[in-house]
Amino acid sequence: MKYDVTVIGSGPGGYIAAVRCAQLGMKTAIIEKYNTLGGTCLNVGCIPSKALLDSSEHYHNATHTFKDHGIELSDLKVDFKQMIERKTQVVNQVTGGVDFLMKKNKIDVFHGLGSFIDKNNIKVTDGDGKETKIETDKTIIATGSKPASLPFIEIDKKRIITSTEALVLKEIPKHMIVIGGGVIGMELGSVYARLGAQVSVVEFMDDIIPSMDKTMGKELKKALKKLGFQFYLGHKVVEVKGTAKTVTIKAENKKGEIVDIKGDYCLVSIGRKPYTEGLGLENAGVKMDDRGRIEVDEHLKTSTDNIYAIGDVVKGAMLAHKAEEEGVFVAEVINGEKPHINYNLIPGVVYTWPEVAAVGQTEEQLKESGRAYKSGSFPYRALGRARASMDIDGLVKVLADKETDEILGVHMIGARTADMIAEAVVAMEFRASAEDIARMSHAHPTYTEAFKEACLAATDNRALNV
Ligand code: FAD
Repeated sequence: MKYDVTVIGSGPGGYIAAVRCAQLGMKTAIIEKYNTLGGTCLNVGCIPSKALLDSSEHYHNATHTFKDHGIELSDLKVDFKQMIERKTQVVNQVTGGVDFLMKKNKIDVFHGLGSFIDKNNIKVTDGDGKETKIETDKTIIATGSKPASLPFIEIDKKRIITSTEALVLKEIPKHMIVIGGGVIGMELGSVYARLGAQVSVVEFMDDIIPSMDKTMGKELKKALKKLGFQFYLGHKVVEVKGTAKTVTIKAENKKGEIVDIKGDYCLVSIGRKPYTEGLGLENAGVKMDDRGRIEVDEHLKTSTDNIYAIGDVVKGAMLAHKAEEEGVFVAEVINGEKPHINYNLIPGVVYTWPEVAAVGQTEEQLKESGRAYKSGSFPYRALGRARASMDIDGLVKVLADKETDEILGVHMIGARTADMIAEAVVAMEFRASAEDIARMSHAHPTYTEAFKEACLAATDNRALNV
């Protein structure tokens, strides 16, 4: 079999790249080692985590806020098996959707491990050991990432688990210890805290979601504390031991004291590492960097001329929409076009409640770069919309250039900011000033008014509703 392009890996990077290649008239194949398409994101990442976040949020609201809304319920309980079952159905729907897209675009799907024989030939080995050879002109590597761990932690997948197992638990933990205060830990910790678990977070840094603007971590910590989270910040995990039913963690604080934390589950969520196992990169002359990522140039081309790489397996944010943008980009590069990605404008979202969303530079980054900036914030509690829904935790912070007023960064925490951040991305893509947004009509009452008000605050401190 001979193809113009072969994509290895069917996550959001890989399947989107395959669709765009097919749209551009290339004969395209995609190889996926798992039985279902969609990669981490659709099978064990973005989608199942959001399904459980939604279900647990309904339960939390039913137990905590319905009464205030004048809705009384009795005998409320969680059917956890059904909750997991619904999540599985959602996953089946979306992965089935990718099957449909492959058929619609006449992309040949090969299930099995893709491995380079040389730069133009790939071997696909399926679960029964059967081998199929594919000849290809160009290849796009989109093999994604896997959960990272620490050398002394043995992930037994029963009590000491990664996000993958946390999405298929058979019971609600009594006490879940989360190692790592990043996005995945805060999201999955929220799921179980809402369902009644005690959640303890052990984080080496002094803040949670440390890569985001510091204000966001501070505000999110307050909100999660209300949900019952306990934080051990500035604590370095030095030992993790599991038995059949318990897990014990030892963590060292800044004073050198050792704290013991006992739970029944330990979620290790310290980040993800690029996945290249079994790819046979050496047979194709594809180089990796010192962090195990595939090295690419500004066209996402690897060290071998006709081989490209995208998504989590290359440098940059490990996000589904970043992988998708790169998928389209690379297909168009192969087609001889000159596409563009503005990496500064890839938004980041944490789907806790309140949600956190951001785009552009953080205040810390601006300070470090020495750029003169001004800042404007607007609190959710001053919004009519937030009052109506009782979602008053949160704020929007806008950072703009001191002289030109161009928006340089937008950081939001509050209800529905995951969707609201798109307005900031558009504004920044068109290099809008804070004044531009401040003068645009935003429907009332909506949460989006907080962005407009924060822009008013950033330009001569003229927010109207505080
Ligand atoms: P992946 O989605 O990892 O797909 C790679 C695919 O390649 C896999 O299916 C793998 O089986 C296959 N593969 C690997 N090697 C081979 C081989 N040799 N042959 C054949 N197939 C192979 N991102 C967001 O933007 N928003 C979110 O809300 C979000 N939530 C997340 C929640 C969790 C719990 C996790 C774990 C991740 C989340 N992410 C989220 C991150 C997101 O899932 C990844 O950034 C995204 O999936 C990366 O896409 P990718 O195409 O690079 O790789």
